[in-house]
Amino acid sequence: VNVLLVHAHHEPRSFCSALADRAQAALSAAGHQVVRSDLYAMGWDPVSDRRNFTSVKDAAFLKQQQEELFASERGGFAPDVEAELRKLEACDALLLSFPLWWFGLPAVLKGWIDRVFAMGRVYGGPKLYENGVGRSRVRALAIPTTGGPEVAYSGWGFNPPLEAILAPIQHGTFWFNGMLPLEPFVAWSPVRVSAEQREQYLHALDARVARLFEEAPIRLPKLGEFPNLGLDAKQRFLAVVRRARPVDDAYRARVPEELAHLAALKRDGVVLRIDAAPPADPQWRVFLTLRAGSRAEAEEALRGLPLAAWLAWELTELAPFALPPAR
Ligand SMILES: Cc1cc2nc3c(=O)[nH]c(=O)nc-3n(C[C@H](O)[C@H](O)[C@H](O)COP(=O)(O)OP(=O)(O)OC[C@H]3O[C@@H](n4cnc5c(N)ncnc54)[C@H](O)[C@@H]3O)c2cc1C
Repeated sequence: VNVLLVHAHHEPRSFCSALADRAQAALSAAGHQVVRSDLYAMGWDPVSDRRNFTSVKDAAFLKQQQEELFASERGGFAPDVEAELRKLEACDALLLSFPLWWFGLPAVLKGWIDRVFAMGRVYGGPKLYENGVGRSRVRALAIPTTGGPEVAYSGWGFNPPLEAILAPIQHGTFWFNGMLPLEPFVAWSPVRVSAEQREQYLHALDARVARLFEEAPIRLPKLGEFPNLGLDAKQRFLAVVRRARPVDDAYRARVPEELAHLAALKRDGVVLRIDAAPPADPQWRVFLTLRAGSRAEAEEALRGLPLAAWLAWELTELAPFALPPAR
C-alpha cells in the first residue's frame, strides 16, 4: 500500500530525521510503497498566496478558499501544490514527522498543510469528517520529537497536555479530513535522554509502523452526531467509581487488563477524562467523564470494566455549564 511520509527537519543528521529514515526503511522493508516529501530538502515554500494557483478567479481580492474551489474545477493549482495533492490523494497512510516548535508544527509543515489541503480538491461541501477525503480509511500518524519531558505534557505538568497541543493535527487536520488518527509516536527529549533510550525509540518506532494498518485508531466524534452543526447529540456523564469489595489477588491480577480496557475506552471516545483521588485517600475513588448515547449505554460501559465486580458507581448526567437563573 501507499504511504506518504512528510518530513520537516532542517538537519538530516538530527534524531527527528533518524526517526523518519527508520519509519521509511521499516515500511519499505514490509513491502509498502513509501513516498517521502522531505520539505527542507525540497525547498518547500510554505507561504500560502496567489503562488498556490495558475488560475485566477478574482484578481482584485484574494480569497484563498474561493480560488481553491476555482482551481479544483480547472486544474489550476501551481505545480508544487499539484504534485503534493497527487501524493496525498494516492496515499493509504499519511505520516508527519517533525520537531515540536512553539507547541505546534514547524512553519514549513504548517505551510504544507495550508497550501495542499485545498478546499474543493481535498475538503468542503460534504467532504468533512467521516465523509472526508480519507474516507475513514486512510491512517494518519504524527511522529513528533520534543524538547520538554513527557511529564510536562501529561496534563499535570507546566505545559498544556500533549492531546491539546496535537489537536490541530489529530482532530483539525487528520480527522477533519476523514483520516483515522493513530496514537502519536512521541520521542520525548531526544537531546536529553541516554543513547540507549534513543535506540529504544527507534526500535519502538519499528514496532509501531509494523502494525500501522492493524492498530485501532483514535475515534473522534462524527459530524453526524451534532445535529444542525450544534451541540452534541450524545450525553455526558460523570461516574464516581469506588471499591465496593476488598482488594484480593483476583483483583490485583486484573489490574493490567483494567488499565488496558480504560485506555481503549479513551481511544474509542467513550471515556473523555479520567481523574482519581490521591492513592492515600481512605475514600479512594475514580472520576470518569463518559460520552454515551444514553444512560443505559454509559452503564453498560461501566459494567464491561474487568474490575466491575469489585466496584460500585454513581452516574450523574452533565450539561454545559450555565449559572442557574436568578430568582
Ligand atoms: C523554534 C523552536 C521551537 C521549539 N519549541 C518547542 C516547544 O514548544 N516544545 C518543546 O518541547 N520543544 C520545543 N523545541 C525543542 C525541539 O522540539 C527539540 O529540540 C527537538 O524536537 C529535538 O529533536 P531533534 O531531532 O532536533 O534533536 P537532535 O538534537 O537532532 O538529536 C538529539 C540527539 O540524538 C542524536 N542522534 C541523531 N541521530 C541518532 C541516531 N540515529 N541514533 C541515536 N541518536 C541519534 C543526536 O546526535 C543528538 O545527540 C523548540 C525548538 C525550536 C528550534
